[in-house]
Amino acid sequence: MSQTWWQKSIKPIAARIVGLAARKPDAANEHQATIFVFGTKLLVTLRGIDAATAQAATAKLEQQFQHMQRNWNAWKSGELTDLNQAIADGRSMAVSPHLLGLIEMAKRFESLSDGLFNPALGGIVGAWGFHSDERPMGYRPDLPAISTLALRKPTMGDVSIEGTVVACTNKWVQFDFGGFAKGVALDMAEETLKSFGIQNALLNAGGDINSMGNGGACPWRISIRDPKSSGVIAVITLAPDEKIYTSGNYERFHEIDGVRFAHTLDPRSGIPVDHIISATVIADSGALADATATALTVAGPRDWHRIARKMGVKYALLVDERGGIHLNPEMRARISFSSDRAFTLIESPPL
Ligand code: ADP
Ligand code: MG
Repeated sequence: MSQTWWQKSIKPIAARIVGLAARKPDAANEHQATIFVFGTKLLVTLRGIDAATAQAATAKLEQQFQHMQRNWNAWKSGELTDLNQAIADGRSMAVSPHLLGLIEMAKRFESLSDGLFNPALGGIVGAWGFHSDERPMGYRPDLPAISTLALRKPTMGDVSIEGTVVACTNKWVQFDFGGFAKGVALDMAEETLKSFGIQNALLNAGGDINSMGNGGACPWRISIRDPKSSGVIAVITLAPDEKIYTSGNYERFHEIDGVRFAHTLDPRSGIPVDHIISATVIADSGALADATATALTVAGPRDWHRIARKMGVKYALLVDERGGIHLNPEMRARISFSSDRAFTLIESPPL
C-alpha cells in the first residue's frame, strides 16, 4: 500500500517496535523487527545471531531513533528548531556532536552536488506547506513570498562551524535535513548493530535500504518500485554492504487546483521539480545514497549523469515524468526487469 506524504515525513512521535519475530531460525538464525520511525515502518532483518541479542539490539535502535526524531525535526520543537531560530535571530549556537556531524555532511553534499542538494532551504520547504505532520487542507502557498525567499539564496556555504558552534551569515538559512536524515540514521543504526557483534543485517525504511554484510547464506535481493504503478520495475542483488535509496515525488506532494507539487525543490528557483518521478541510487553509505537520490531528482534527465559522477556514485536509475527510465550501463547490467510493462530505456555513458 502506498504511503501518503505526511506518513513519509519525519514525525516526532516515539519510535516504537511494532513487531519482533524469529524467522527461519534453523536456516539462517534470522530475526525480524518492525520499528515505526520517521513516519514510516523500518523493517530490521538480523541474521546469524540469537534471539536475545536481536531483542537487545532492536531495543537500542528504537531508543536512538527516538532521539533523532526529537532533535532532527524541522518543525517540531527540538535542537534543530532551536538552531533555526538562532539563525533567524542572527545568533550563533553551540550544538551537539550529532547535529554538528549532520551539518558537516550537509555542507559536503551541497558542494558535491553543485548546490542541487541544499538542506539550507527549509524556509522554502515550509512555505510550500511541507512542514507539517498532516496534509494541510486547502493550503495555498504564498508564491511571491517563496520567490523572495529563493532570491535570498540560502545555502550551506553561508554556514560556518567553529568547534561546536554553528554560525551563519544569512538569516534566511533554515536547516531541513529531510533529504538525507534517513540515510544518516540508518548508517548510525549499522554502527549500533556492529557493537552487538551483528554482521549481517538489512534495514529497510520504506524502500530506502542499508545492507550490512553479504546476507550470510542468502544474498540480499531488493525490488525497485515502479512509481507509475504499484508494481516493481526490476530486482537487484546487493553486493555486501551496499545501500540503495529512492527519492520519490509520487508519494509526498501537494495538490493545488488539480496540479501536483512535489516535495523536492529546485534550490535555484524554490519551485518543486516536475521532470523526475523517482531517482534510485546505490552507494556505500546511506547518507550519500539518500542525498544523491535527492540531488538527481533536482538535476533531472539532462544533468543527472554529471551530478552522479561528481557525487561519486556508480549506479543510478531515474524515472522521468513520462515513465522513461534513465540509467547507466553498469546499473542496467545488474538489474533484472520483472514487469510486463514495456519500459523506454535511455542509457547514459558509463559513470
Ligand atoms: P523521499 O522522502 O521521497 O525519500 P527525498 O530524500 O528527496 O525524498 O527528501 C525530500 C525532502 O528533502 C523534502 O521533504 C524536504 O524536506 C527536503 N528537500 C526538498 N528539496 C531539497 C533539496 N533540493 N535539497 C535537499 N533537501 C531537499
Ligand atoms: Mg534523499
